[in-house]
Amino acid sequence: MSKRRRIICAGNGLATLNFAIHLRTDVELLIIAADDFSISNSFMAKGGIAIPVSETDIEQHIRDTIVTGDGLCNVEAVKDIIGAGRQLIPDLEQVGFVFDDSMGREGGHSTSRIRHVGDETGRYLTQHLQKKVMKMPNVHILSPLQLLDLKFENNVCTGVLVGDKRNDVLQWISGDAVVLATGGCGNLYRNNTNGILTNGEGFAIANRAGAKLSGMEFMQFHPTMLYQKHSGTNALITEAFRGAGAVLRNHEMKDLMHDIHPSGSLAPRDIVSRSMYNEMKATGVESLWLDFSSISKERVEKEFPSLYQICKQNGYLASSRIPVTPAAHYMCGGVITNTLGETSMEGLYAIGEIANTGLHGANRLASNSLLELMVVSERAAKQINNMPEKNEKTIIPFKGDSRDLNSVIDKMTEHLKSLMWANFGIIRNEAEMNRGITELNTMQDELNVLHKKESINIALNQMINRVQTALLIAQSAIHRKESKGCHYRDDMPLK
Ligand SMILES: Cc1cc2nc3c(=O)[nH]c(=O)nc-3n(C[C@H](O)[C@H](O)[C@H](O)COP(=O)(O)OP(=O)(O)OC[C@H]3O[C@@H](n4cnc5c(N)ncnc54)[C@H](O)[C@@H]3O)c2cc1C
Repeated sequence: MSKRRRIICAGNGLATLNFAIHLRTDVELLIIAADDFSISNSFMAKGGIAIPVSETDIEQHIRDTIVTGDGLCNVEAVKDIIGAGRQLIPDLEQVGFVFDDSMGREGGHSTSRIRHVGDETGRYLTQHLQKKVMKMPNVHILSPLQLLDLKFENNVCTGVLVGDKRNDVLQWISGDAVVLATGGCGNLYRNNTNGILTNGEGFAIANRAGAKLSGMEFMQFHPTMLYQKHSGTNALITEAFRGAGAVLRNHEMKDLMHDIHPSGSLAPRDIVSRSMYNEMKATGVESLWLDFSSISKERVEKEFPSLYQICKQNGYLASSRIPVTPAAHYMCGGVITNTLGETSMEGLYAIGEIANTGLHGANRLASNSLLELMVVSERAAKQINNMPEKNEKTIIPFKGDSRDLNSVIDKMTEHLKSLMWANFGIIRNEAEMNRGITELNTMQDELNVLHKKESINIALNQMINRVQTALLIAQSAIHRKESKGCHYRDDMPLK
């Protein structure tokens, strides 16, 4: 039996990287990564990290979070995580990461408190931490591997089942604890801002293992994804751009949000997305305009360099307007944890977007996600640093089912994405959701027929996990008999 503790962390975004740098070097860390770090949502994060501006701003940041969370935040978790936020600045400086001097403002925030590096905070922070983690001798990145399932012994999580699609080989890997950090599930939706691997498999895996989840009905939709009908690009236009003065307009160039909310284009995301959806439906258009004529080109180039390049490449600089559509963006719910990342199952932790600490409630305040992820992943690492060595460490490989099921799975994926967008999207109702659940159950039955008990097909098992996560969203949505936060039902309008 190895004398070294081994932790297995599934997923490779910022939650994993920050967890890794706080882990003691005498603890072995195996990172299960489906692909490169640049494919993660973390890499794509734009606006930055919401951090109270001063000690006196903590109370106001807490209030903004609770107001946006629409009565469902865990107030203790909100106070705990936001209260810990200011320490992030010196902590990151200590590892050589420094924010720009200016602070951005985003929807729902009562002041400018978004710390950022240009308009690509996620990319810079991921690259910075990745460089450090790659040099850590105790960290081993196992890639490309898919997490498919968890292993439990006597109700304690002792390992993972992973698969390598290149050779259809699976492995049971055991360790002293497992950390789920596989991110959100936006890519289950047709219109989404997320990375192609953000398919939410981790939620289904945790649920099957018996971990408690909640809030899966709260998929947050982002108002401004660049609309390009034929390119399939899903570039997000940061809310900070609206913070700098860009305004949403309809096709008559009328300020869409002016008469709807006192904060105008900077109203909370759910309100803006819904207003856009209604306007698009009423007028039969597929996109609206984001007008940035009030911001100088020099400022766009200096403060939003990646967006400036998009505008330049697509010819939007001359007209100063960008076609935009709302899109699935962030899962506010997930695997219930405390603010140390502990789930309801012994030996199983969850950090990052997959986790539900209670910070976001029914709706996430912009840029609170990176704050939560940084605070909780550090604490989870520190907690695990003190854990005794418990389990035997083994790696057991075996050959899986090598049937090529790609054409069936590709077809089902397209259907799943359209169904989630239409039946569990920005505006929902009982009849559409019931229809959606029936179709999801049919998909699940079809997948079960393809599944052979004696042999595991990696792609098929991923698809099973995706449909199960879609069902978790669907069932949570139909059970919530009210409109709340980012869950909006037109058969139960807001009171
Ligand atoms: C375009 C965009 C902009 C954003 N901007 C901001 C912002 O400015 N501020 C903010 O606070 N938040 C922002 N967010 C949200 C934030 O970026 C994410 O919530 C956060 O980065 C999630 O980090 P994570 O480490 O939990 O997961 P991720 O960064 O998503 O990484 C998880 C990775 O795990 C891997 N994975 C998934 N499933 C499996 C599996 N079964 N097996 C193996 N590996 C798997 C995938 O490669 C996946 O990419 C933004 C999100 C998007 C999409």
